[in-house]
Amino acid sequence: MSNVLDGTLEISQKLLTSETLPTLILGGGFTGLFTALHLSRQHYTTPTILIDREWSFIFKPLLYEVLSGEMNMQFISHRYDSLLHKSGITFIRDEVQSIDLQQRQVRLASGLHYTYSNLVLSLGGVVGYCGVKGAKEYTLPFSTIEDAIALGKQLRDCLQRATQSEELQQKKTLLTFAILGAGRTGVELTATLADLLPDWYDSLGGEISDIRVVIIQRGKKILKGDRDRLRQTAEVALQKRSVIIEVMLETAVIEVRQNIIVIKRNDLVEEITAATIIWTTGIATNPLIDALSIPEGGRDPHGRLKLTNTLELLDFPEVFAGGDCAVMEHPLPLTAQVAYQQGAAIAHNLQALSEGHSPIDAEIEMRRTLMKLGLNESVAELFDRYEVQGHLGHLIRQAAYIELLPTLARNFKGTLEWISDELFQRCSGV
Ligand SMILES: Cc1cc2nc3c(=O)[nH]c(=O)nc-3n(C[C@H](O)[C@H](O)[C@H](O)COP(=O)(O)OP(=O)(O)OC[C@H]3O[C@@H](n4cnc5c(N)ncnc54)[C@H](O)[C@@H]3O)c2cc1C
Repeated sequence: MSNVLDGTLEISQKLLTSETLPTLILGGGFTGLFTALHLSRQHYTTPTILIDREWSFIFKPLLYEVLSGEMNMQFISHRYDSLLHKSGITFIRDEVQSIDLQQRQVRLASGLHYTYSNLVLSLGGVVGYCGVKGAKEYTLPFSTIEDAIALGKQLRDCLQRATQSEELQQKKTLLTFAILGAGRTGVELTATLADLLPDWYDSLGGEISDIRVVIIQRGKKILKGDRDRLRQTAEVALQKRSVIIEVMLETAVIEVRQNIIVIKRNDLVEEITAATIIWTTGIATNPLIDALSIPEGGRDPHGRLKLTNTLELLDFPEVFAGGDCAVMEHPLPLTAQVAYQQGAAIAHNLQALSEGHSPIDAEIEMRRTLMKLGLNESVAELFDRYEVQGHLGHLIRQAAYIELLPTLARNFKGTLEWISDELFQRCSGV
C-alpha cells in the first residue's frame, strides 16, 4: 500500500526513522508522476516522496472531453493513491511553499519540511498573460480540470440567458465566444466549441446561426511551429464545423475588459464584444521556479531552468528537472510526451547515481501528434509520415486514450505500459 499523507496527517514512521535522506519529487504531472512510477519499477531503494497540491493526476490532453462530456471524468482524473498503490512511493498532498537549493530543503504549506538527497523539479508552468492588460481579470484560462468545469458552466449560462434575451446587443454578446491564441490548445478548443455550442443551443430551442465563434492569433498562421500539413488539415477542419469560425490572423490583443476585447489589426484599433473570452496562449514560469536562487546563466529567457543533457541543473547535480519548467540544450516543445520521457530518463539517472554509476544523456523522441478537431473528429500524425484524419483519426485518438485509459486507473504497471508502449511508442500498433 502506498503511503498517502495530507500534510496534516502523521508522517510514516519509516520516513521519520530512516537514516537515508529521501528523494523528493515536487509536482505529480507527466514528469513527476512518471519519474515516480519508473523509480518504483526499477526497485529504487532510496525513500521517495511525491508531493502535489492535488489529490489526482489530470490527463490534460483530454480536458476538452471534460468540457464536452464526451468522456467520463474517471478516465481523465486519477487519484495518486490509486496510481501509486503498492509502488513504495509516499504521496503527500500539500502545497510546496519554498525550495532552498543551497540548504537542500523544501517547505510545505502545512508546515512540514524536508531535507533531501536528490530533488526532482516537475512543477510545470502557469498561465502566462504576456503583459496584456486585463487578460488575467477578464479571460477564462483552460489549463486545469477546474478551468474546464468553469468554462462549461459559463457556456451553458450564456446560451440559456441568450434564449431569454430580448435586447439584440446583449444577445449578440452572450452568443459571441472568443478564443485568444491559435496554438494547439486554441485550435482544439475552437473546433470543439464550434460543434458543441450549436448542439447545446439547438437543444434549448435557440437559432444556431446566431452563434459567433472567433479565434484570434497575433501571427500570420495558426499552429505556429507545427508542420504545414498539420496546419492545413486543421484549417480545413475549422472551416467544416457546425458554425462558421472567424479566424483573425495578424491580430494583436492589446487589452481585455469585461466582455470586450480590444484588438489591433492593419494598424486599426477595434473592439469585439463577447461574454466568453478564453485565454489559451502563453505559459509562464511557476513562481516557485522563479524564486529559486540559482547562479546567472542558469535560466533561459523565459525563466525556465537550463538542464544538462542528463537533466540535471547546471550548478546542482543532485537536482533533476523536466517538463514545462525546464529546458534542455536543444529546446523541445512543452508537451506531455516530452515530459513523460524526461520522467523516465530522470528515474534512470537517479537509479544510476544510487548505484554509483554516472548519469547518461536523455534521449527524447518526438513520436506522434494527436489533435482533436471537433466532436468525433481528430487528426493522428504517425511516424512523422502518415496522417489519419476525420472520424478514423478520432478512432485512433480514442483507441490511444479512451480504450487504454481504464488500464491507467487499474494499476501503475499498467499505467507505464499504456503510456510508453501504446500512446507514445508503439505507433504501428494502432
Ligand atoms: C488543454 C491542454 C491540452 C494539452 N494537450 C496536449 C496533447 O494533446 N499532447 C501533449 O503532448 N501535451 C498536451 N498538453 C501539454 C501537457 O499537458 C504539458 O506539457 C505537460 O502536462 C507538462 O508536464 P509537467 O510534468 O511539466 O507539468 P504538469 O503536468 O503541469 O504538472 C505539474 C504538477 O505540479 C503540481 N504543482 C504545481 N505547483 C505546485 C505547488 N506549489 N505545490 C504542489 N504541487 C504543485 C501541479 O498540481 C501539477 O500536478 C496540453 C496541455 C493543456 C493545458
